[in-house]
Amino acid sequence: MSNKKYIVWFDEIGKEDIPLVGGKSASLGEMIRRTNVPVPYGFATTAHAYRRFLEEAELTEHINEALKKLKDPNDTSTLQKIGEYVRKLVYESKMPPDLERAIKDAYMKLGERVGEKNPFVAIRSSATAEDLPDASFAGQQETYLNVSGADDVVDKVRKCYSSLFTDRAIFYRIQKGFDHLSIALSAAVQLMVYSKASGVMFTLNVSNGDESEVLIEAGYGLGEYVVQGTVTPDEYYVRKEDLKIVDKVIPRKTKQLVRSPSGGVEEKPVPRELQDKQVLTDEQIRELAKYAVAIEKHYGRHMDIEWALDERGDKLWILQARPETVWSVKEPEAKTAIATERKVIVKGLPASPGLAAGKAHVIRSVQEINEFKPGEILVTEMTAPDWVPAMRKAKAIITNSGGMTCHAAIVSRELGIPCIVGTASKGTPGTEAIKNMMDITVDATNGVVYEGILEEEVETPKAEVQLAASTSIVEPHPVTGTKILVNLGEPEIAERVSKLPCDGVGLMREEFIWASEIGEHPLYLIETGQPDKVVDKLAEGIRKVCQAMNPRPVVLRFSDFKSSEYRELKGGEKYEPEEPSALLGWRGASRYYHPRYREAFKLEVKAVKKVREEYGLKNLWVMIPFVRTVEEVRKVLEILKEEGLERGPDFKVWLMAEIPSNVILADKFNEFIDGYSIGSNDYTMLVLGCDRDNAEVGSIFDERDLAVKRSIKHLIDIAHKDGKTVSICGQAPSVHGPDFIRFLVESGIDSISVNPDAVVQVRKWVASIEQRLLLEKALGRGVKEDPDLEWNPK
Ligand code: PEP
Ligand code: MG
Repeated sequence: MSNKKYIVWFDEIGKEDIPLVGGKSASLGEMIRRTNVPVPYGFATTAHAYRRFLEEAELTEHINEALKKLKDPNDTSTLQKIGEYVRKLVYESKMPPDLERAIKDAYMKLGERVGEKNPFVAIRSSATAEDLPDASFAGQQETYLNVSGADDVVDKVRKCYSSLFTDRAIFYRIQKGFDHLSIALSAAVQLMVYSKASGVMFTLNVSNGDESEVLIEAGYGLGEYVVQGTVTPDEYYVRKEDLKIVDKVIPRKTKQLVRSPSGGVEEKPVPRELQDKQVLTDEQIRELAKYAVAIEKHYGRHMDIEWALDERGDKLWILQARPETVWSVKEPEAKTAIATERKVIVKGLPASPGLAAGKAHVIRSVQEINEFKPGEILVTEMTAPDWVPAMRKAKAIITNSGGMTCHAAIVSRELGIPCIVGTASKGTPGTEAIKNMMDITVDATNGVVYEGILEEEVETPKAEVQLAASTSIVEPHPVTGTKILVNLGEPEIAERVSKLPCDGVGLMREEFIWASEIGEHPLYLIETGQPDKVVDKLAEGIRKVCQAMNPRPVVLRFSDFKSSEYRELKGGEKYEPEEPSALLGWRGASRYYHPRYREAFKLEVKAVKKVREEYGLKNLWVMIPFVRTVEEVRKVLEILKEEGLERGPDFKVWLMAEIPSNVILADKFNEFIDGYSIGSNDYTMLVLGCDRDNAEVGSIFDERDLAVKRSIKHLIDIAHKDGKTVSICGQAPSVHGPDFIRFLVESGIDSISVNPDAVVQVRKWVASIEQRLLLEKALGRGVKEDPDLEWNPK
């Protein structure tokens, strides 16, 4: 292909033309030219066109000069200022007239081809680097959808050009030592599909690496929401061999991004009757899988493909195909640079086990969170509830502060993501020792981070896979007298978690739904006349979990944000006090009856009522956190009663045993509740006087301390005297192994609630401990009581 042309048509280019038109455009051409899959037609502006644009507007020197001022790419504020300046400079420069003419002519010809004067097109940036085989490294540039009219097309091409200078792209090039101007930009101008549905598909099952299946993800409207993770799409698993659909997951889909008839895009709700429906027909699913198989065959490797279903004639289109990157790292032909030296760069507390390797992304504040991309390793000071959507996408998480029961630790374990916390307490903090976009290997089982990608990571399945694998173990799961429950807050994983051998959910944290689905302070929503938003969103999340687990019980823990976390919710500053020590402040039960918060709490109660009564899911129970006095529990029960919820045979109310007063006065608390669940995270903090979030005292914080154990045993004894049950839902049984479990079982605990990744193992330990106890009894030996565990030792 001549490299002097400004414009090339898709059927004139192929994968060898990456230097001319970048990876994206080349791949579109390749598919149109050399496969039979349907790809919307279009053209691409070339690298030559881009260079001509820079030359004509005399931009090269200006850009170089501006970027030279950026001495340190980690200086975020200068980077932002210079990035903005360069983008503006590029965007506001005039297009050379001959280039402008060429783009407009090509656009007109495209219109003639489909018989429309100003056809709607999508304009995608495609970065090219002449000397690099894979130019996708810089591929964070923009896409403009639903553009119409020649002037607008030219405008968006200039916008694409300027997007080569996003802060992230500039940063990345400096890190890698690439010359900013060795990279060019091609804009792919492609006929717009009027998507009524769209999504992505992979030529392997990305959740476990199974190469015999195609995984298709489908949502309503345009694909951006599926790609960005804004909606949870349908998942269809199709066997390649005979195109048989082997599994489907159909979540509720409430919103979609659609094209506006006048140009641009907008968000719309999905009509009620479509929300729970399968997005594609089985026939369409098989057709897409057939295309995926053909594309994979053509490229000879696993591919990540975007597709769309056009409302005009229900035709399926392929919009893009690129090599799949997460699992391909495990293929021998994908050349991961394996580090030869084993160099430890950071150490910390092993909060959630597992091994992961990849690019580190240092995020300093929640404002930068949109920059975080799926599959990266999140490195930060500390996470909070509003970080959860990004955490979900992370391959691993590393935080400077925090102990074993901090936010990052709890969420990672629940999601099955390797996590190391408290790096600052063990030396240089992660955010300083780890440079942005550095390749690292995270050994979260041992709390160590290595520079580079180490060999063993390539062989090790992800934690996520371990969870998937544990659900399909053929070995029968042992029956235990002690119930094994699971901790679960993320409704999106409820279906999968429900397949684990557990007897119910022992702790459902509401905070995930608040952070991901509501995002606004309840009092702000009340003040702005939208209280139903809280009730509906909470009820929806809870419904998902209850439905997946039914008939097994789900114990919902009422909200337990701290004031510092509530303040992060939209509108929160107005209602939240500045507290010197939020962990010991206005949290848990003390809010529920407080005149300033009472109405907000009632919304949570209404959501519970809705799930139990409207949706008929009677397996929903509740639990009250952080109750300091007996009077508090009485007041909270009063509110439940006012709202029409009363304890009964199918509605149990538990108290979280998190404060020493709960144990000391257990005989008094017994009267008001059906059972306890020991929140060993807060409980240990308060018995030992160790801030659970402070890594400096992390080595003292230990749930196995005699003071904690002795008082737990006492609580079980006192609760059982009045026929109340005792469970435990803190991190302790998930992380401390068989000895701690043995202590709990021997003390007569009724149930143990652990993180999803620990369920199978804990059930086995409990079964063997119980059998041993029976054996000892049969042999007449009885269990040797540990005198130290007695509340009143002799
Ligand atoms: C606990 O304190 O042990 C607990 C389970 O609650 P959280 O960690 O959410 O405070
Ligand atoms: Mg707690």
